[in-house]
Amino acid sequence: MDTARALSANLASLLRCEHSALGAFLVALADFDRRRAWMTLGHASLFAYLHRELRLSKAAAQYRKVAAELIQQVPAVGDALGEGRLCLTSIVEAARVVTAQNWETVLPRFFGLSRREAMEVVAELQPHPAPPTRTIVCPVRTSEFAAGPASTTPTLPLEAGPAGNRTSGSSGELTKREVDASAPTPRPAEVVPLTADLRRFHLTVSDRFLEKLQAAKDALSHARPGATEEELLEAGLDLLLEKAAKRKGLVAKPRKTPRPAKCDHIPAHVKRAVMERDGGRCQFRLPSGEICGSTHQLEFDHIEPVALGGASTVENVRIACRSHNIISARRVFGDDWMDRYAPGKASLPADTG
Ligand SMILES: [Zn+2]
Repeated sequence: MDTARALSANLASLLRCEHSALGAFLVALADFDRRRAWMTLGHASLFAYLHRELRLSKAAAQYRKVAAELIQQVPAVGDALGEGRLCLTSIVEAARVVTAQNWETVLPRFFGLSRREAMEVVAELQPHPAPPTRTIVCPVRTSEFAAGPASTTPTLPLEAGPAGNRTSGSSGELTKREVDASAPTPRPAEVVPLTADLRRFHLTVSDRFLEKLQAAKDALSHARPGATEEELLEAGLDLLLEKAAKRKGLVAKPRKTPRPAKCDHIPAHVKRAVMERDGGRCQFRLPSGEICGSTHQLEFDHIEPVALGGASTVENVRIACRSHNIISARRVFGDDWMDRYAPGKASLPADTG
């Protein structure tokens, strides 16, 4: 623990140096740009200088160029970057809305945000004037991914008909709300904030997925006539969430005939109360004093372990993510015991914490 603490202190110190160096670099770059020194050196632009002379990748050059330009308008941006409050990847988003007039109120809204979160702030401050709401399926031929823009790829509305109307053997790109013809490369689902509560969702899917979606639409054509793809998918997600909640003991009704409790069995009413009290989030306390707060792989963790006489009561049970359930168990039982009784196991079964 002491070694880990010392290593962590070293990392924190190195990180401060990294932030500080980045801030100093960008403030100097802003001054370099103000003097048009890149032109004196024979470059066409600040971007060209960063890419050609400093050998930064195009993306890295673009981030730094935008930051340097913003610092010239709002010098406080340099301080925020140097102190690590503002992330370089979110600067491109901040630059869309932060001005010399509004920076005192708007700039702090970007502190500590990822680029995705920063996009949401921009969408709120500068909503899309007319959010597109079309649903379009356009075939994506994998051999064409590298060929360039997909502007020549035919696009068909989802309503156009069965899979036979699409290019056979291809996968379809189901593009919620509008098609982005300039981005044909396969990527994970992409979410673009449009307004404070509207998002554009790009998702590359298989023909099988589209057939199931059409089948769901047909099956629900009486119960939910005219349901949109978003409504159908949301209804499906509601079913999944309901199933998961039942598994976690969040069902609305308790069992009519309670089973005799095993020593490590947690009654459903305890699970419900714990889940509600802990807000469905891991309650493990980090060294910083904050709770973990994860909603991933949650388990019920006995604060005083069952093996040591802990009871399955609301007071003695909490929500923990799997990693923290294991860390808690290792702290109580020691690594030797855990390695002996749970050899090679990365995790403990639920309800044994
Ligand atoms: Zn956790």
